[in-house]
Amino acid sequence: MTHIYNFSAGPAILPKEVLAQAAAEMLDWHGSGMSVMEMSHRGPEFMSIYKAAERDLRELLAVPDNYKILFMQGGGLSQNALIPLNLVGHKPQPATIDFIHTGSWSGKSIKEAAKYANVNVAASSMTSVPPQSEWKLTPGAAYLHMCTNETIDGVEYDFDAGVPAAVDGVQLVADMSSHILSRRVDVSKYGVIFAGAQKNIGPAGVTIVIVREDLLGKALPACPSAFDFKLVADNESMYNTPPTYGIYIAGLVFQWLKRQGGVAEMEKRAIAKAELLYAALDASDFYETRVAKQSRSRMNVPFYLKDESGNEAFLAGAKARGLLQLKGHKSVGGMRASIYNAMPIEGVQALVDYLNEFAGRRHSRESGNP
Ligand SMILES: *Cc1c(COP(=O)(O)O)cnc(C)c1O
Repeated sequence: MTHIYNFSAGPAILPKEVLAQAAAEMLDWHGSGMSVMEMSHRGPEFMSIYKAAERDLRELLAVPDNYKILFMQGGGLSQNALIPLNLVGHKPQPATIDFIHTGSWSGKSIKEAAKYANVNVAASSMTSVPPQSEWKLTPGAAYLHMCTNETIDGVEYDFDAGVPAAVDGVQLVADMSSHILSRRVDVSKYGVIFAGAQKNIGPAGVTIVIVREDLLGKALPACPSAFDFKLVADNESMYNTPPTYGIYIAGLVFQWLKRQGGVAEMEKRAIAKAELLYAALDASDFYETRVAKQSRSRMNVPFYLKDESGNEAFLAGAKARGLLQLKGHKSVGGMRASIYNAMPIEGVQALVDYLNEFAGRRHSRESGNP
């Protein structure tokens, strides 16, 4: 069989080693005679899995002691409601939430938050992160929400350029679903970081929430108890049954990340992979990208064939080479290559080879050469 490289945006590629280990442990976890799926979430076996996952994630992201890590259900989208329900109670009502709108996911967050608070779009651009000097923030806002990597549009914050930093004491909330653990981040700058697992961590169904302790305990009365961050934190994510098998796989991914050299090493690899791919796209007049260079995502690379009549042939040829799930999101069209932590550079090289070959083939057909 051709070697397969999976460029799906999510649910997405996982490390082969992790899948092999999960397969080997499927029927009998560590001599317990049980699959992880069959264990009580409060029993000593699963508690050891949970505690290791929590500890490893804390270590990988250098999460300070005054932050809780919650393993919740509901995915990234449900956090668009749960974060207002948990945070706006810290301010007199009706509170205002500021947003930076940089693409589809922050757009969805804005719509949902408007059910619970006033929303102010402080800055907006779908092709770059607007410079911080242009953000029109609300004094006394409950918090400032940003999606630090827009999975569909391919816009990523360049943390190295100083964004985001604490903004006039306003609480930062970041949706890091599609680039968490791919780059170093200073957790202490945030009130809440959240991420659905299915992009860079593990199976769909687990949602990671990292929340500073002083933000707990002010949930609005309408907040469902099972999603009250304080109740979840006080019960070590076991107020109700957590997504146990997903947490187990996430834990294996965290161990894999540590063996690879942690987040700093992932960041190095992400830079190398992204540079390789963008360089190939930039060098060709056959393809185009639409995101400003300084805001290009290292994880999700949307690109377009200038002549879109070649789209179907491009995808069919890619599939024949084992390059899977390259079709862009239906809302923006074109192509998208998601190159998460588990994507080896060989996969990106295989894609680059194909990009060059496909462009060359089309060129020679147009110019009449064989
Ligand atoms: C995928 C994604 C989500 C939505 O996650 P669901 O688990 O489908 O709710 C939210 N934000 C970002 C940035 C994403 O990439």
